[in-house]
Amino acid sequence: MAGHPTRRFLSRLWAAAACAGVALAGVACGSAEERALGRPEPALAPEARAPEEPSAVASPEPTAPETEPEVDRGPIAIDTHVDTTQRMLDASDDLADRLPDGHLDLPRMREGGLTGAFFSIWVRPSAYPGEAAWTRAQALIGAVQQLAERHPDEAAVCRTAEEVRAAHREGRAALLMGVEGAHALGDPEDDEVLLARIGRLHTQGVRYMTVTWSNDNRLGHSSGGDHPERGLTDLGRRAIREMNRLGMIVDVSHVSDRTFWDIVEIAERPLLASHSSCRALSDHPRNMTDDMIRAVAERGGAVCINYYTTFLDAEYGRRRRRVERAHRAELRTIRDAHEHSWQRWAETNAAIRGFDPTLEPPGIAQLGAHFAHVASIASPDAVCLGSDFDGVGELPAGLEDVADLGALREELERRELPVAPIFGENVLRVLAAQTPSD
Ligand SMILES: [Zn+2]
Repeated sequence: MAGHPTRRFLSRLWAAAACAGVALAGVACGSAEERALGRPEPALAPEARAPEEPSAVASPEPTAPETEPEVDRGPIAIDTHVDTTQRMLDASDDLADRLPDGHLDLPRMREGGLTGAFFSIWVRPSAYPGEAAWTRAQALIGAVQQLAERHPDEAAVCRTAEEVRAAHREGRAALLMGVEGAHALGDPEDDEVLLARIGRLHTQGVRYMTVTWSNDNRLGHSSGGDHPERGLTDLGRRAIREMNRLGMIVDVSHVSDRTFWDIVEIAERPLLASHSSCRALSDHPRNMTDDMIRAVAERGGAVCINYYTTFLDAEYGRRRRRVERAHRAELRTIRDAHEHSWQRWAETNAAIRGFDPTLEPPGIAQLGAHFAHVASIASPDAVCLGSDFDGVGELPAGLEDVADLGALREELERRELPVAPIFGENVLRVLAAQTPSD
């Protein structure tokens, strides 16, 4: 992995310092490999020592601290959409390990300073039609829970803003869950059964549901479906009210424009767009118009910017697709050589760059422009991180994976945008505002 050697080095130091705080508190913080080998963990590695307090009077003997020293872990950073869940289930990949591909694991989260993420419970409709979708969703939820059970010192399932803050203090990754598309509720004959499943998801810790993915479903119509001119169904209206009652965030990413406005009309709590960018900068139906962004902001919600190159620059996406069409056979060879999508992305992107060296993906500055746009037309309190890590095949140049998150932080600082709200506090506010009414 190339990227930013200096930034990675600095963030590793930061991660080591964070780890030191945990080690002092008596909690294991070594690598998975060390624990697997049964090696005793050193009390404190030399490079992991927290910086010493300058002291006017030299103390005679160093004594063990009585309380855990405050460790500066940086601002809370929450990403509202990562698709890493599928590899956890389908390839049994353990996120406590540094994985050789893809965009996210716990070591790289620490490097990039990402406190936590909403792990997407996404079901491919063609592979799991009808009721099979519900079974698959349950298995994906199980995979997230299992990560925290296996590594309680490194990760915790979080359901509230307070639980996220506690995980941040403890140096543990906050694992949140969001269901992407109501087709994941399955297809029971009885509407009441379908609605009851939303309550079941909430009990299991799921804290948002995206009303649709790219397909239409029983609740409403999608921007990528057969009828993008249509909106919520009657059942969809009931589902929105039920989500508001339960305290489940209504996520408007992926929905058709009409579905979006139908939701705005009836929703009583702040909305979230978990992974959507700005249509004014990049004309793509998955992105949000300025009016939509303002409507979310006026209701206390937030729009979390998707990092996918095609959403950041739709013209780039069109050019890239032309290259893909012209080299279909070569790209199919790469695809067929790998079992899983995340294993072929780097090779595919390199090949496309080879086919057309003039095709330059958008970089960090273009990503920053989408954040700045929401901040300027609405508010810095209405924008957040919605990477789509491990769900998209290409990220902006300079942001290879979550370990490079510091590059986005620097870009926001360069634009004089407030980092703490954008990185985490806005999302925690939306989460906290879903308090159940009964
Ligand atoms: Zn999505």
